[in-house]
Amino acid sequence: MSEAENIAKRAPTRRRFPVDLPVVAEKARSPKPPWLKIRLRTNDHYKSVRRTMETLNLHTVCEEAHCPNIYECWGEKTATFMILGDVCTRRCGFCAVLTGTPGRVDSEEPAHLAEAVEKMGLAHAVITSVDRDDLADGGASHFAAVIRAVRARVSGCAVEILTPDFKGAAGALEIVLAASPDVFAHNIETVPRLYRTVRPGSVYRHSLSLLEQAKEMGAPLTKSGFMLGLGESRDEIRGVLSDLRAARVDIVTIGQYLQPSAGHLPVQRYVPPEEFEEIRSEAMPLGFHHVEAGPLVRSSYHASRHVQQQSDSTARP
Ligand code: SF4
Repeated sequence: MSEAENIAKRAPTRRRFPVDLPVVAEKARSPKPPWLKIRLRTNDHYKSVRRTMETLNLHTVCEEAHCPNIYECWGEKTATFMILGDVCTRRCGFCAVLTGTPGRVDSEEPAHLAEAVEKMGLAHAVITSVDRDDLADGGASHFAAVIRAVRARVSGCAVEILTPDFKGAAGALEIVLAASPDVFAHNIETVPRLYRTVRPGSVYRHSLSLLEQAKEMGAPLTKSGFMLGLGESRDEIRGVLSDLRAARVDIVTIGQYLQPSAGHLPVQRYVPPEEFEEIRSEAMPLGFHHVEAGPLVRSSYHASRHVQQQSDSTARP
């Protein structure tokens, strides 16, 4: 194979639709309902967050995953950092992040990210990553280095991490939890029946077990999230909620799946806000500390409030 062919083979791509899998029937992209319309507005905070990320060579999942809340979150000077590069080793059918062969891990990233947290004045930093199945520990030691760098530079800043499953790498969870994140999050993303289509390369039971182990190993708060609108039934949603509670997950976020491009899985249904509220009402009695559910809810959306509400509720007599 020539060098040019090699490069083409490794070149990151945004094509996500897993054509080789038994997928749900593709639908034409239908217009978004009114409750998903967002105002595109930028303010000085938004511009300053963008400048900080560019200057310090950092990535955010807000941009890479085309999050609809970016104007609101950046406008309020919050963002979710995405570490370990901007190229993912998996090909999830819902995700807009580039897929391919990632580059070298940036050893300066922990220091740069801590500097950004300080500049932005964050009291709660949310940090996620691409999947790095190419690394022996799945990126766990880099996560730990980032947590420690933030703690060292910004005292009192809460750190929430949203990790991949580390492909079951031995010791990965121990490495991450040894750095004492305030919140350990891992998204279950969808119901088990849709995993082959939505999350090829991931295993529902492994994800559940990661959350359960994190709790057993002393994570103060665990958190998970999933999307609606991919073809799941109400009973399947109940099943996921009950599995998450059985794994002693504290906080759950539930939002609407939005198709990032025509190459991604189609939206099967736009779930109205009232239905999100019904699901939230069904979930709370299961014993979660906090359930955030709504069309635009994402794992990191209003993340500091999820933790604040949890602290408030445990502080009550
Ligand atoms: S919801 Fe999360 S990913 Fe989306 S813009 Fe806000 S902080 Fe970024």
